[in-house]
Amino acid sequence: MQAFEATNFYFDQAAALMDLTDNMRTLMITADRELRVEVTVEMDSGQIGNFIGYRVQHDNARGPFKGGLRYHPHVDQDEARSLASLMTWKTAVVDVPFGGGKGGMNCDPSKLSRGELERLTRKLVQKIHDFIGPDKDIPAPDVGTDAQVMAWIMNEYSKFHGFQPACVTGKPVEFHGSAGREAATGYGVAIIARETLAHLQRTVEGTTFAIQGYGNVGSHSARALRAMGGKIIAASDAYGAVSNPEGIDVDALDAHVALHRKVVGFKGGDAITNEQLLTMPVDVLIPAALGGVFDAAMARAVQAGVIIEAANGPTWPDADEVFRDRGILVVPDILANAGGVIVSYFEWVQNLQNFRWPLEQVRREEEKRLVDAFANIYELARRKTISLRTAAFMLAISRVGRARVLGGI
Ligand code: NAD
Repeated sequence: MQAFEATNFYFDQAAALMDLTDNMRTLMITADRELRVEVTVEMDSGQIGNFIGYRVQHDNARGPFKGGLRYHPHVDQDEARSLASLMTWKTAVVDVPFGGGKGGMNCDPSKLSRGELERLTRKLVQKIHDFIGPDKDIPAPDVGTDAQVMAWIMNEYSKFHGFQPACVTGKPVEFHGSAGREAATGYGVAIIARETLAHLQRTVEGTTFAIQGYGNVGSHSARALRAMGGKIIAASDAYGAVSNPEGIDVDALDAHVALHRKVVGFKGGDAITNEQLLTMPVDVLIPAALGGVFDAAMARAVQAGVIIEAANGPTWPDADEVFRDRGILVVPDILANAGGVIVSYFEWVQNLQNFRWPLEQVRREEEKRLVDAFANIYELARRKTISLRTAAFMLAISRVGRARVLGGI
């Protein structure tokens, strides 16, 4: 099974409980437009670098396409399709006025110089600028891209279309970005963890967490959970993992990662393997790296009681079934990591109004939207005796479907 098929499996699970015609199903799962572009740049060596970029625009019934831009060697059309579809359901779950899109570049950013990365990004924008924009499709950071990449996108886009800061979100705060955007996804993961635990009559304080993927989302989740009194007992990245049953000193780990670009070698914990992190005894496991982490065998080995999907698409459908059978509660990606797109929405609004919000306002409004979305989905899941994932998809499908019908097919 590939990523897009898995996303459609989850869609169908929810759609089967709803009154959806076959034609409406086809309309809702099929991407509106798919771009594939060749991007050639001059490398520092003087050689030509050939790369392929993708942008999939899945659905815009509820507003402009919205979604991240990923730079990673695994990026392909299928992955972009799956992630674009997830964005359609995610923006609907938290009720921000966007549709879903996603894109990426098949490249390994760790092997590119800063100059190569900039040229690649600008060239990509030159290829797709007519198809993106504040009221068409608004990219944002994802794996392998950051605020600097978003700043280059805005600058390049503005050469063609004039000053348009709302053409991309996740920009640096000093360059038309929003306070709180960089931390927004991880902060949101912590809010969702808190709400989930509260429904289990537990608190973040005294709860143990293991975090797979100590990048933007993983590290900000750790920081926010630590601030709420949680104990982070393990963290990993692409190079290895560390654990400390007494609780990792998150500030010290951040300082180590800032210096060495990896968690490996951190003195405040013991080295473990990435697989050990996923299967260790812990209260809450947070996958915050790439998709496709849990297959059925891995799901049988997991010892956590709760999984909060900070990453997009970490759970294959057969693993989802194992988790359900084993009574492991899974909070789905389209709810758990929606804090990022909520604050991207705030950034877009601020850019359109040329007005800045203080951090407290951003955080307050992000929290309110997430708490409301969690309560709606939890209640729907309880009422219908279905998983949180199926409930989230049902809520999203009904919102997107309603907008589609109201706007005219
Ligand atoms: P990032 O590039 O900042 O971090 C990814 C981290 O995962 C890195 O530390 C990397 O080393 C690590 N990693 C990669 N392969 C791994 C492996 N096999 N085992 C353990 N760690 C591994 O990316 P990010 O922006 O933090 O995104 C992480 C996930 O969150 C992605 O699935 C992304 O789609 C999702 N997400 C991100 C945002 C956002 O605002 N950035 C919003 C919503 C969802």
